[in-house]
Amino acid sequence: MENAVIHSFDVVIAGGGGTGLYAAIEACKTAKTAVLSKLHPIRSHTGAAQGGISAALGNVEEDKPEWHAFDTVKGGDYLVDQGAAMILAQEAVQAVYELENLGLPFNRTPEGRIDQRRFGGHTSNFGKAAVQRACYAADRTGHMILQTLYQQCLKHNVSFFNEFQIIDVILRDGRCGGVVALELSSGEVHIFQAKATLFATGGFGRMFKTTSNAYANTGDGPALLARRGVPLEDMEFFQFHPTGIKGMGILISEAVRGEGGVLLNRDRERFMSRYAPTLLDLAPRDMVARAIITEIRQGRGIRGDQRIDDYVHLDATALGKNVLREKLPDITGFCKTYLGIDPAENPIPVLPTAHYAMGGIPTDTRGRVVDENGGVYQGLYAAGECACVSVHGANRLGTNSLLDLIVFGRRAGKDMAGFVKDADGLWVKEDAAAAAIQQIDRLFREGRGPSSGRIREEMELTMMENVGIYRNAADLTRAVEKLTELRGRYQDVRAQDRRKRFNTDLTDLLELGNLLDLSLITAVSSLNRKESRGAHSRDDYPDRDDENWLKHSLAKLEKDRVRISCKPVDTSVWEPKPRTY
Ligand SMILES: Cc1cc2nc3c(=O)[nH]c(=O)nc-3n(C[C@H](O)[C@H](O)[C@H](O)COP(=O)(O)OP(=O)(O)OC[C@H]3O[C@@H](n4cnc5c(N)ncnc54)[C@H](O)[C@@H]3O)c2cc1C
Repeated sequence: MENAVIHSFDVVIAGGGGTGLYAAIEACKTAKTAVLSKLHPIRSHTGAAQGGISAALGNVEEDKPEWHAFDTVKGGDYLVDQGAAMILAQEAVQAVYELENLGLPFNRTPEGRIDQRRFGGHTSNFGKAAVQRACYAADRTGHMILQTLYQQCLKHNVSFFNEFQIIDVILRDGRCGGVVALELSSGEVHIFQAKATLFATGGFGRMFKTTSNAYANTGDGPALLARRGVPLEDMEFFQFHPTGIKGMGILISEAVRGEGGVLLNRDRERFMSRYAPTLLDLAPRDMVARAIITEIRQGRGIRGDQRIDDYVHLDATALGKNVLREKLPDITGFCKTYLGIDPAENPIPVLPTAHYAMGGIPTDTRGRVVDENGGVYQGLYAAGECACVSVHGANRLGTNSLLDLIVFGRRAGKDMAGFVKDADGLWVKEDAAAAAIQQIDRLFREGRGPSSGRIREEMELTMMENVGIYRNAADLTRAVEKLTELRGRYQDVRAQDRRKRFNTDLTDLLELGNLLDLSLITAVSSLNRKESRGAHSRDDYPDRDDENWLKHSLAKLEKDRVRISCKPVDTSVWEPKPRTY
């Protein structure tokens, strides 16, 4: 493969989801800004977000940012950095009004204010009762955010490089000089050099067999950085959303329960009353997902007798056709399309589905990526689902991710604009793409090699069965061994299609390599943490252990090994307490 084309910008943003676009709107005010995206931006996973974005506006009932911050900390099982959670909750109010001013068509109250609804773990008065905090545009909130932000980016002349897949990051002596990307339409390699680079590449739920995540959610950003020596934070915490469509994983938003839907077992019992007597079906996701699995394990799943394909019902029949049509139209459509049922008349068969990465690239509250000693990488930023700031701790509350994108995407955008004003010039040379070109040439070499499809299937199954909702040392050890073997086999895979234009065989292989690295890091981090906290639930260590484990983990990938260290949690506002709901 020949040498790469070089482009120069002040700011390069990797990812055109909610995070990347908001950061671009801020950065482009004073800095020459480019957004690179392997998808067309409005196909980003943010567009699939359904239920809402939280902010203590108090439009429907009394609410305060402080209560929101507290819920976030408690929901995250006290692994949240509390200063960051305060910023999230306080800046939420302004962030939502800014989205409104940019043109986002929120649902309205009869008085014309932004309407709000209930969501899991959001309460008034430090846990007293569920509160209506989620602002929403029907069940298409993410779609509306993406459309609104993309239009603003076009208006402000942000440069877009759509269908450019980033395959390497240029990092030298703790400084970031930009990224290397593959132009999908031509197969050419390009260098984008920049004074500041933001990773906003989203989640990596595609590690798991059953997932709510889009095909593109392969964790490219965290994986590329991990291979260049950046540690990843709290990777053992991966959220399973309680209500995916049984057997498919397609998400049925928590908004269904926010509007009054209830979970029922085979006896038509509202079983959440035994697990979370105050918040019931609106307890945080980790608790509801575990409750569903426990019901099934104890033979109270629908069909019963502890069969592995048992499930529970999400009953939304009491909501009535009007609420479903006006507030949950997409969900209603999904049920009709995928299950052939009308949720106004029949309960929906559901099971937990892999959903959200709480862990990721460690950053400070300005979006700057930090190393294991607390030092800052010059010119390297991350925000959104690929980052860990950490506002979600061990378990994210619903509607707090869209908020995270807006609040921390904006902060990163602002900080980059300031940083590039005084930053040194560009320093990247043409050979910066050498490693990426070598990697592609390796995948293009002659011969057949092992089947990448099989490797992918085995990875997804291993993660699902051994690194899922309930974990233990034996299963996790098996997972680490299996993933190590799969990474070994991956070294010999080759692209069967050797053409240059739109070579999805090649891009699939690159993405599989990223998923394998993140799977291994997740499994090793999970084996390391010997307690149960939030979404990380160990049968062999069933209790939370603040004395030994109230700390973030940092995982560093060193070829075939993952080395774990730790850093303290900011508990400056609230003392950790046992979690009851
Ligand atoms: C079905 C579903 C429903 C959800 N509902 C809600 C909700 O109601 N409320 C809520 O708060 N959260 C919700 N979430 C979570 C939330 O939507 C996501 O966490 C969030 O949208 C992630 O945004 P992001 O900007 O970080 O990444 P994304 O929106 O995933 O965007 C990632 C971007 O990075 C680009 N990219 C990735 N890799 C590369 C690469 N190698 N090269 C170039 N570009 C790359 C992609 O093209 C894309 O543009 C939901 C998630 C799912 C899956």
